[in-house]
Amino acid sequence: MAYKIGDACISCGACADECPVSCISAGDDKYMINEDECIECGACNSVCPVEAPQLD
Ligand code: SF4
Ligand code: SF4
Repeated sequence: MAYKIGDACISCGACADECPVSCISAGDDKYMINEDECIECGACNSVCPVEAPQLD
């Protein structure tokens, strides 16, 4: 299990700044989470204005 960023992402970058293990990076049309590094803390979901990161 890991958080995954859905299509609602508007690429604001807030989640990447908040992630304690820095596993979020900008992708082509939305931000991406490295699922091997995500520790499921939920910080990205909490800070996201559109709740795009969800548990997969
Ligand atoms: Fe990073 Fe936590 Fe979001 Fe996983 S749940 S991507 S560790 S902020
Ligand atoms: Fe996308 Fe939400 Fe992250 Fe902003 S905080 S880049 S909208 S997932």
